[in-house]
Amino acid sequence: SADRAMHSAKRKGKNRFELYNQLEHGSDAVDLALENDLHKAMERGEFSLHYQPLLHLRTNQIIGVEALIRWNHPKRGFISPATFIPLAEETGLIVAISQWVMEAACHQLKELQRYYPKMKMNINLSTSCFLQHELIDNLERVISCTNIDPRYLEIELTESTLMPNAAFAIERLVQIKKRQIKIAIDDFGTGFSSLSYLHRFPIDTLKIDKSFIRHLSSYRGEAAIVKAIIDMGRSLNVTVVAEGVETEKQYKFLKDYGCDCVQGYYISKPLPFDELLPFLHEWKAE
Ligand code: C2E
Ligand code: CA
Ligand code: CA
Ligand code: CA
Repeated sequence: SADRAMHSAKRKGKNRFELYNQLEHGSDAVDLALENDLHKAMERGEFSLHYQPLLHLRTNQIIGVEALIRWNHPKRGFISPATFIPLAEETGLIVAISQWVMEAACHQLKELQRYYPKMKMNINLSTSCFLQHELIDNLERVISCTNIDPRYLEIELTESTLMPNAAFAIERLVQIKKRQIKIAIDDFGTGFSSLSYLHRFPIDTLKIDKSFIRHLSSYRGEAAIVKAIIDMGRSLNVTVVAEGVETEKQYKFLKDYGCDCVQGYYISKPLPFDELLPFLHEWKAE
């Protein structure tokens, strides 16, 4: 496949540096090889879920986890979802992958709730899955098969999923909310066009994008934005979660300013399921 990439790059008149970049991210030939592997990944059991804890600041309790997919490729090792989710979207494989994610996450939530009955589970949903006609049926089926209480399930959607057709999105969100499932807006603040629409969406949670958290201590502008989002969340009566919290400074800022929850390496990286329970037990004991 590297040869094919080389040829296609030559055809396109790329230099060495560009070729290297292409091989790293998204050259046509590599995408093609990956796409073939992606088709087989499910039956070969190469996907797994890691779980990143969400800390509620006021009570210092872990109140939920976010499911994040991992692909352990037989030759290339772990491939980031940032690489293969867009590919899965393009090829339509995302529908089957999401179905698997939902089932696996709900099963593991059931397991978690044997020890932590109020633990929540957050699941990311890509655009095509949100738009998919069968979405509600699929959600209902997974919930009834696993027998979980839908109130502990939260779907994460980005503004870019919701905005292109806000009227349709609102209708769909209402259907989801009727099933008592919660809704979070992910990467909030990166698609600021939606501010004027925000109050029309029946949402439960805003997740502040990690790009604003990263510079929290060095740039005053970021602090102003984060404060504004927290204030807005308060006035809209939604839960505000800061993601990508890596330092004590960031943590303290968010806690002092009354952000509801934080998520990030400062608390824990995403963990495989067998490390999650020990983490939760230890957190509770401290
Ligand atoms: P996201 O939903 O915004 O997830 C947060 C990402 O930030 C995750 O990357 C997580 O590992 C990473 N992260 C967590 N804490 C920190 C931190 O303190 N600092 C930094 N720099 N990063 C942190 P990951 O797991 O590589 O996932 C990337 C994206 O792939 C996700 O972004 C989400 O959009 C997508 N994704 C992951 N799992 C799924 C899935 O099951 N379905 C769909 N549709 N998309 C998924
Ligand atoms: Ca997310
Ligand atoms: Ca996010
Ligand atoms: Ca994202």
